[in-house]
Amino acid sequence: MSEDCVFCKIVEKKIPAKLEYEDDLCVSFHDINPRAKVHLLVIPKKHISTLKDMEKNDAEIAGRMMMAAKEVAAKNDLDSYRLLVSVGSEAGQEVFHLHMHVMSPR
Ligand code: 5GP
Ligand code: ZN
Repeated sequence: MSEDCVFCKIVEKKIPAKLEYEDDLCVSFHDINPRAKVHLLVIPKKHISTLKDMEKNDAEIAGRMMMAAKEVAAKNDLDSYRLLVSVGSEAGQEVFHLHMHVMSPR
């Protein structure tokens, strides 16, 4: 948990989000500013700022995030979709709590 991290606050249910999925390692919810008809985010419960900070013993988290993406895509009837992880501000990362975007094609 990082004090002023918006995604940690969503994990802690201190700020609301439209949750789609939750397990012991990760959470998925709708992006507040959707850029596709379906635009979800999958995040680890653990505060990891960016993919560069993932360590070997976070491999289970990485795998679970991918499985959660698959689950929420299916739950939203997405047959085809894109997964995106921006790493670093130049690549467009704005929230420094690791997240994977799950986006419908349009
Ligand atoms: P990034 O640009 O860092 O890859 O993506 C961050 C995403 O988080 C953006 O698409 C933005 O709309 C979303 N976002 C930022 N703050 C909040 C929030 O408080 N709630 C939700 N649901 N999404 C957020
Ligand atoms: Zn965080």
